Amino acid sequence: MTFKTIEEVDVSGKRVLMRVDFNVPMGPDGRIEDDFRIRHALPSIRSVISRGGRLVLLSHLGRPSGTGFEEKLSLAPLAAHLAGLLGPDAPNGVGFPSMDCLDDDAAGAVSSLADGEVILLENLRFNEGETSDSHEFAQALSSLADVYCNDAFGCCHRKHASVHALPAAMSDRPRVVGLLVADEIRYMGEALDAPQRPFVAILGGAKVSDKIGALKNLIGKVDTLLVGGAMAYTLMKVMGHEVGSSLVEENKLELAREIIQMVDSSATDLVLPVDHICGRELSHESPVCVADVDVPRGWMGLDIGPATTARFTNVVREARTVVWNGPLGAFETTPFDVGTRQVAVSLASCAQNGGMSIVGGGDTAAAVLLAGVSERMSHVSTGGGASLRFLEGEHLVGLSCLESM
Ligand code: AMP
Repeated sequence: MTFKTIEEVDVSGKRVLMRVDFNVPMGPDGRIEDDFRIRHALPSIRSVISRGGRLVLLSHLGRPSGTGFEEKLSLAPLAAHLAGLLGPDAPNGVGFPSMDCLDDDAAGAVSSLADGEVILLENLRFNEGETSDSHEFAQALSSLADVYCNDAFGCCHRKHASVHALPAAMSDRPRVVGLLVADEIRYMGEALDAPQRPFVAILGGAKVSDKIGALKNLIGKVDTLLVGGAMAYTLMKVMGHEVGSSLVEENKLELAREIIQMVDSSATDLVLPVDHICGRELSHESPVCVADVDVPRGWMGLDIGPATTARFTNVVREARTVVWNGPLGAFETTPFDVGTRQVAVSLASCAQNGGMSIVGGGDTAAAVLLAGVSERMSHVSTGGGASLRFLEGEHLVGLSCLESM
């Protein structure tokens, strides 16, 4: 589906309410640890202010209780950071009017915005109405603007007011996507609807239950499905392998069996680990062993082994389209990061050779960053949950009220 973008709206002199996703990791001292999502919102922000729009940014941060201001989850440091990134593009900086996105100071700041100026309102989730998709909360926000823009891909799968009730309340005004969201839809949509082949999906992460929808949607679509991470052990167990004390979802064995049957009656080739890096426990001080296909009793499979890594990386290098969601080991803990890092590098090679490599957000994006190859991917998604919904073939609720073409 193609949506109308912010670039196609005349924003000059208009108040534009733009939902961005500035939910970035913050250190205990209020320092921003990774501004990936903020930097990716810059094209839409610049598009509005350079054309004389009056920009009002909305975001959430963390999970406040919804009962008012909480200093440690204030967006104030993000306004200052954004001003630094915009530099001379925002000569008056980024306004940050008040402790509540809907109080009189916020409304006053919006009405006194000049053409080309930008303000950021305080954390939406300080109001309970945001997460409850409140119609009243959305109505109040809608009175602030002439145009609505959703550039918060990471929130598009959530039925929250700023991405659902708000555009619904603005049906009499332009409601468009920002450039970040347009890019995400283009890459993920193209990969799934018209992939260049070989088309390979890599799924990993902790739980098979989180990836059931993606597995079911991708089986039959992809040529090869590479599965690693802890989720592989639930599948391997139903295939009769010894999995030691690896993470297994005992209550999902029936589903795992169903998945294996689906693969058997499809044209998709499922590749599971043929060896493992094991530890006694998930700790970087744990003794380590390399096991063949069966994990010995008393050991946990914590990373794919060297033979599996070689197999996965060969498949990926030869692919024309690769989508990846979920790390292939407990990559946050050395030495269980090696397989994930090497597969990340092979996705970079795939892209370098003209293939398309698409990395889901969240942990997978963090792993690719750790491997130092983020910039070499065709696309790294800014949304973990939202990109998984895409792989599941589900529609995103946040896009349902926007103008399509
Ligand atoms: P998910 O959110 O489902 O994508 O899971 C990501 C988490 O899975 C990361 O924190 C990884 O450390 C963890 N993980 C991946 N593989 C393993 C494994 N073999 N054993 C334990 N944890 C794992």
